[in-house]
This record gives sequence, structure tokens and C-alpha cells, in this order.
Amino acid sequence: MAEKFDAIVVGAGPAGNAAAYTMAKAGLSVLQLERGETPGTKNVQGAILYADALERIIPDFRDDAPLERHVIEQRMWVLDEKSFIGTNYRSDAFNSDQPNRYTILRAPFDKWFSGKVKEAGALVICETTVTELIQEGKKVIGVRTDREGGDIYADVVILADGVNSLLAKKAGFHGELEAKNVALAVKEIHFLPEEVVQSRFNIKGNEGVVIEIAGAVTHGMVGTAFLYTNKESITLGIGCLLSDFKKAGIAPYTLLEELKAHPAIAPLIEGGEMKEYAAHLIPEGGYKAVPTLYGEGWMIAGDSAGLVNAVHREGSNLAMTSGRLAAETVIALKERELACTALHLARYKTALDDSFVMKDLRKYKELPDILHGNPHFFSVYPQLLNRAAHTMLMVDGQDKHSKEKTIRGSFVQQRSLWGLVGDAYRMWRATR
Ligand code: FAD
Repeated sequence: MAEKFDAIVVGAGPAGNAAAYTMAKAGLSVLQLERGETPGTKNVQGAILYADALERIIPDFRDDAPLERHVIEQRMWVLDEKSFIGTNYRSDAFNSDQPNRYTILRAPFDKWFSGKVKEAGALVICETTVTELIQEGKKVIGVRTDREGGDIYADVVILADGVNSLLAKKAGFHGELEAKNVALAVKEIHFLPEEVVQSRFNIKGNEGVVIEIAGAVTHGMVGTAFLYTNKESITLGIGCLLSDFKKAGIAPYTLLEELKAHPAIAPLIEGGEMKEYAAHLIPEGGYKAVPTLYGEGWMIAGDSAGLVNAVHREGSNLAMTSGRLAAETVIALKERELACTALHLARYKTALDDSFVMKDLRKYKELPDILHGNPHFFSVYPQLLNRAAHTMLMVDGQDKHSKEKTIRGSFVQQRSLWGLVGDAYRMWRATR
């Protein structure tokens, strides 16, 4: 029989790297397999890195991780065709020596993380695709790869192979990914001189600004857009549910072109040289779409388990946390000389349930269905809010009481009184 490892990790994204690093650091024999030429070549993210999740795995990551800017300001914009209404939060408190959020570029970041995994003692093999799980009855005992003689065995396999985990599907651990539970996102990176990025966003040094965007740019489809500042570039992207793209017959790239041309966005990227374009799926089905997370000899983490908080645009931190918790489950079992049976691996689910990962997904469990059934949240309200701001801010001789009446009238005309009450109730239910 071929060599046997304590654990095999499939995938070298944030979930796989967190799992492989944690187990290797604890002295377990770990094999990590990645289909990309190097870790990161197949991966797409905005990308905001949430420090906390990584800090719990590599406390001193700030010493050498390739970080772009630390985020000191978040803007939330709701667009109509010509304008936007929004909020900003900017704080000097984010300028501490332990910033909470960074922008990153995934290719160099994943490469760095993978270097740490190797330093910790894991065997990392790239350009190797796991084609299926090797099972003995219901128990997963290893993986089959696309290499000659590529069957490899382990006590446990952690699936961290990203959204639409084909391996889990093939093994019957979950069904087909439904189009209503997954967003298709496209993004571009526009390069600009560092000082231009700084002056356009009123930042200095490595400070950064991120803008989360909703409204007219998604044509009423369930989705959002984003703009993130990097050191010498700006990342701009947009994503909507795959089911909505299918229904609307609009190409994602059309939305990105419209976003770039919007009067609020165009001046921010003007003169930039577009060097990178990418498209990727994001699992956005939320709590109700999370599949079975463990079984005999296997666990599933990160995007492959649907662990994305679409409301707060958090994914990589849920991936790292689930990867770490899966690894800690294996470490605890090894310490007590317990086998990686479903009964024992159930601790992984308990740990996830006790963490922010499942607590946050549970909080928003009704949101995907509610948004799906109420497209006016993405079409009617952005128009109404922008028009209300315009009406109120135009100084045109009309008194403010009359303006308020006009605004109230426009809301009632579009949604009716009961419609407005119903929408408020639905939003409360979706986010309570
Ligand atoms: P992945 O990063 O997808 O990694 C999976 C890895 O497995 C890949 O390297 C892949 O090549 C490998 N693999 C797959 N199949 C096999 C196989 N059979 N054999 C071997 N290897 C395999 N999250 C945030 O936290 N902040 C953001 O700002 C943010 N922005 C985003 C913007 C966009 C446009 C997108 C698409 C996502 C964004 N996310 C963001 C979500 C985030 O990218 C994901 O949640 C995160 O990458 C999930 O990590 P993962 O390790 O589970 O999966």
C-alpha cells in the first residue's frame, strides 16, 4: 500500500492552507494537494483580508505577509443611474499597529500562506488534481489524483476545494449546486500610480478605502458591487445570483462595463491600466444551503461547505476559521488516539456551531429567500432613496414640508402603504 498520511488536504486556498498549517504545526503528517501551478493561480477574491481569522493561525503574519493597504474607511453606496446615496465610516482607530482589515491580492497572498504551510512541515504538491475520493464502504480512506499511480491514503481527508466541490458531489456528500444559491462575480484590477490612489481617496501611506455598492448597477438582480484600493491599483467587481443572470439574459461583463462608466465610479479609476480580469462563483445560499460538514473519514471547509456571509462580504475568514477548526478536531482526536469516524468528527460541527461562522450564517438564514422573492429591494428602493435625497437637497423655493410630502408620496406610489410595512417586516426578519 502507498504511503499513508495523518491527513490529506485538498486545495490550497485560505481554508486548505489554514487546515494544513494548523495540523503540520502540531506535528501531524500532512499532504496538501493543489491543482493550480502554484497556490493562488486559480483563486479569485475582492479582496479584503480580515486579520482576526489569520491572526489566530499565524499571530505574527503582519511581519511578512504581502498586504496591500489597511482599511481605515468603509463606504456603502446605493446607486441609481446618475447618483448615489451612501454612508462612510472612517476612523483613525483603524490606524493602530494591529489593523483589523487589509486589502490583498490573492496570488501573492496564497503563495505566502503556502510557504508557511511548507515551513510548518506539510508536504505541498501543486499541479495535481484530486479526481475522486477513495472509499471503503462509506469511509473515505484516501484520494485518487490525476498523476500516474496517484492513489494516496490518510486517516482523514479535509475537502477545501472551493465552491462547487466536485469531489463532495461525486462522493454523494451533497447534491448539485443550485443557481439560486451561487453568485457569479467578475472583477478587474486597474493599475494607477500610488500617489494617484492616495489623492483620489484622501489617504496616506498604506491606508486604504473600500466601497461596497448596491443599486441600479445590478439591474434589479440580487447582487452587489465593490471597489477596493490596493497599493498601486484599484480592484472593481460586481456579482449577482447565477439564477438572476440566467433569467435576465445579461452578461456579467456588461454590468462591470456599466459600473465603470457610472459617474460616481468613472473618475476613481480614470487613467488606470486594466491588467487583470477574473470571474468566479461565490456560494451565497447561506445557512440553509450548508451541506453535511463531516462523515466517515472526511470533513469539508470553506467555500466547498458554502461558508460565506454574503451580507458582510466575508468568505476568506470563514474559510480560514473552518479550516482551522477542522484541523483542531483532527489534532484533538490524534492526541486521544481516537479514530476519525463520523461520531468523533462531529466535534468539528459543534466547534463551527459555537463559532461566529455558523452563528452569523444562522442570523441571516432567511435573507437569501427574502431577497430572492423581493427584487424591488435592488431596483425600486435605490431609485426612491436617491430621488428623495435629490428632492430634499435641491434648494428651489419649495418648502420642506411639501418636499417631505412629495417623498412620502413617491414611496407610497411605488410600494403602497402595506407594501412598505411588509418590506420593513421582511427586512427585520431577514436580519434579526
Ligand atoms: P478557494 O479559495 O476557492 O480555494 C480552493 C482551492 O482548491 C483552489 O486553489 C483550487 O485550485 C483548489 N482545488 C479545487 N479543486 C481541486 C481538486 N480537485 N484538486 C486539487 N485542488 C483543487 N472573501 C473575503 O473574505 N473578502 C473579500 O473581499 C472577498 N471578495 C470576493 C470577491 C470575489 C469576486 C469572489 C469570487 C470571492 C470573494 N470572497 C471574499 C470570498 C473568498 O474568495 C472565498 O470565500 C475564499 O476564497 C474561500 O476559500 P477556500 O479555500 O474555501 O476556496
